[in-house]
Amino acid sequence: MRAVRIHRNGGPEVLQIDEVPNPVAAPDELLIDVEAVGINFIEIYQREGLYPRPLPFVMGAEAAGTVRSVGSAVTGFKPGDRVVSQSFKGAYAERAVVPAIRAVQIPAGVSTKQAAASWLQGLTAHYLATSTFPLHQGHRALVHAAAGGVGLMLCQMAKMRGATIYGTASTEAKRALAHEAGADETIDYTSTDFAAEVKRLTNGAGVNVVYDSVGKTTFEKSLDCLMRRGMMVLFGASSGPVPPFDPQILNRKGSLFLTRPKLDDYIHAREELESRSRDLFSWIERGELKVRIGGEFPLDNVAEAHRELQARQTTGKLVLVL
Ligand code: NDP
Repeated sequence: MRAVRIHRNGGPEVLQIDEVPNPVAAPDELLIDVEAVGINFIEIYQREGLYPRPLPFVMGAEAAGTVRSVGSAVTGFKPGDRVVSQSFKGAYAERAVVPAIRAVQIPAGVSTKQAAASWLQGLTAHYLATSTFPLHQGHRALVHAAAGGVGLMLCQMAKMRGATIYGTASTEAKRALAHEAGADETIDYTSTDFAAEVKRLTNGAGVNVVYDSVGKTTFEKSLDCLMRRGMMVLFGASSGPVPPFDPQILNRKGSLFLTRPKLDDYIHAREELESRSRDLFSWIERGELKVRIGGEFPLDNVAEAHRELQARQTTGKLVLVL
């Protein structure tokens, strides 16, 4: 089968299509025919070597497709089922295996492509808005990179929960998308002082929570956007990692809370994975949550997809379609 592998770390040019043996499902695994693959920012770090992987390495973890075979110990899945997961071992490929415990059936009202495009970002937005800082009516939230994959989902979910949303993005077109997704106010954080702008828009009060996936370039100023005892949710590093941090700053800026969450810890229990996915899929089926596919690429053009994501040219979610 064809798969995208890296043999060394580097730029998008190290992504190469190789002919590799079909993977075989272990007793607790499913083997699927991959139909759509979600491209995620973390794969840029893996490709570059910031998060090292043993080489050669088949890229990718998020995919949706049809079950081809099930391991001998698997219950609850059968060949022909449509499934999605973010835990594939090598998703940028024609076939891939996943532990059955980490896979979920796609309901009839959601296409396989929609499932791949909404899964990881949708579950992330879900835990951020409902568990890390459970938003409700009257809350004010600042969402950075609001037109990105997670950003657009988070704006929509925050809106469903009645929060007022301030969204940042680098271009006018991106800010228009964030606005459509529910951001009440949008801010160009590349040309304006977003902390001053948030303070102005909230009459000096600040926001209850900042959802920051950008990291290095936004972290410090984001703390200045928070009200007393507000929560800083740092969940990504699209501009680079945040340097070491003195906790005393949280005291000085108003008894702030800081958390650095990751998706795995919010879907570790099977029941939690299933309940979040039920919400996600039912909102999509009812048309309450829009999935924006910002680009579709064949396997051969994977390098182009990585280039665009890294150059912050994308909105919504990029998928490889097989
Ligand atoms: P996005 O679609 O949000 O893409 C990244 C966006 O970040 C860009 O489009 C850009 O938006 C903004 N950005 C700001 N500065 C830079 C920079 N220097 N280089 C590149 N982009 C920049 O990606 P995802 O939705 O896939 O993921 C968002 C972040 O969340 C990633 O860092 C990812 O690793 C993280 N993540 C964390 C999870 C968790 O559980 N902790 C789970 C899922 C994702 P603009 O042009 O508007 O500035």
